[in-house]
Amino acid sequence: MGTERRKNMTTNKKTIDLDTPCGQFFTFRDFIECGEAWERLGAEVDNLPKSLKTVESIQQLCHRVLDPVVREFGQAKLTYGFSGTALAKHIPARIYPSLDQHAGSETTKSGKLVCSREGMAVDFCVKGVSSRELMSWIADHTQFDRMYFYGDDRPIHVSVGPENSHSIVHMLAGPSGRLVPRVMSPKGRLVPRIGAKKK
Ligand SMILES: [Zn+2]
Repeated sequence: MGTERRKNMTTNKKTIDLDTPCGQFFTFRDFIECGEAWERLGAEVDNLPKSLKTVESIQQLCHRVLDPVVREFGQAKLTYGFSGTALAKHIPARIYPSLDQHAGSETTKSGKLVCSREGMAVDFCVKGVSSRELMSWIADHTQFDRMYFYGDDRPIHVSVGPENSHSIVHMLAGPSGRLVPRVMSPKGRLVPRIGAKKK
């Protein structure tokens, strides 16, 4: 296993240079070589998308959400981007590959989608802008699928995807300190939970 920087990714359909722009402000490399686990492991881990659909969803996420956000607020810092199985297994906690859309349309060895929601997700923040403000602007101006809010000074999680559910979930610490999900309306109001179930 080499530790040199990778230049290309080879999907089921074509080979793409990682430095190709995937939107107005980011390259594919920004999404692939991203986050705390990547920084720790670097090129030791093969975190390259294998499905062209994943690649297209990264472009869609830029086009629909990140590009408009950067034009409005200034450059965003991506804290967690594409995460295939090889990277995800090095992240011990707080990620849910089967739900969180960071794996795009990648499949397991047996050919099953890692996340049946598909699409693509990114966690990010913008210097000097509260995540609450970003969340409310994204809700009003973009075609997102899901958004998770963890606090004003924590990165937000935003996805695009075929379900286009436009759902917003606040993940805030309950009395025990564990994060408790609360589903909000697009304007950030609490939606009464009907038959709320535990996962
Ligand atoms: Zn996320």
